[in-house]
Amino acid sequence: MVVKVLIAAPIHERGVEILRREGFEVVYREYPSVSELMDLIKGFSALIVRSKPRVPREVILRADVLKVIGRAGVGVDNIDVEAARERGIEVLNVPEASTISVAELTMGLILSVARRISYGDRMARLGHWAKAYCEGVELYGKTLGIIGFGKIGEALAKIAKYGFNMRIVYYKRNRLPREVEEAYGAEYLSLEELLSVSDVVSIHVPLTSETRYLINESRLKLMKKTAILINTSRGEVIDTEALVKALKEGWIAGAGLDVFEEEPLPKDHPLTKLDNVVLTPHIGASTSEALERSGVMIAEKIRDFFRREFV
Ligand code: NAD
Repeated sequence: MVVKVLIAAPIHERGVEILRREGFEVVYREYPSVSELMDLIKGFSALIVRSKPRVPREVILRADVLKVIGRAGVGVDNIDVEAARERGIEVLNVPEASTISVAELTMGLILSVARRISYGDRMARLGHWAKAYCEGVELYGKTLGIIGFGKIGEALAKIAKYGFNMRIVYYKRNRLPREVEEAYGAEYLSLEELLSVSDVVSIHVPLTSETRYLINESRLKLMKKTAILINTSRGEVIDTEALVKALKEGWIAGAGLDVFEEEPLPKDHPLTKLDNVVLTPHIGASTSEALERSGVMIAEKIRDFFRREFV
């Protein structure tokens, strides 16, 4: 029996090759609408998407032989996972594909805020030689507080410790094994302690009901006035209104943000008016390497899924 795979978003050609080599019949249709997907889905055993298209319940109910939905990336919020589970359809993703890319962007944001790179660039383009306003701080020997020490938190710790000689402190729900702590000289602190001792705080937790607004007004007030806050996790982890206040009133020195409560960030958002914040449009995973890795890895996971099915 030929397994039919519908690829509904652009993935790297190496991923497509893996599926074809396995003997799957691959059909490519870029970003179908929900109604198009409802018409298309019949006869397909696998569906591959990225953050688009949406795969709501009505699509899942229409599927007749669908066994697996693969997300070439991390977040599965465009897929009705509950509806899939009810129908015994597996949902796979590849959270490890973008780890390095996000950690590197995080380091880029730290440097950009600490050395006022984006600000200096903006001024230079306006014809202002802002040298006098661009005095920054070194990272060497400073304390980096990592909130959520999973895949990205650990990749960042490695860069910061071995590339910049930073001292690493961290907070997560459960303490890391001793050998991981020792590898980075990482010290386990409570969230409150971490916020009060860190020169740079970087957030790497998933968005859950527990982490929503984890960083609020009272926690921002615990931070050093000279501290930098970085968020490449999810916008809702920070209370944005409180952050704007903190940046305006000097409770902290600056921030670097890749993710926002509202995306795209509205044009006249208060954050866009502040010189001590660096903003990027959710580009943590947007590198050619991460995109290739996610295409290849999701194809391999789908291939392995069917190999197990037909054993
Ligand atoms: P991970 O699952 O490997 O690590 C998450 C860490 O957060 C773990 O250490 C976990 O113990 C900790 N954690 C979970 N809940 C917590 C809580 N309530 N309090 C304290 N710690 C808690 O995830 P990861 O691969 O490192 O990714 C982290 C997040 O980065 C993702 O969930 C995603 O939101 C975000 N992300 C962003 C981009 C981007 O483009 N900017 C790309 C990929 C991932």
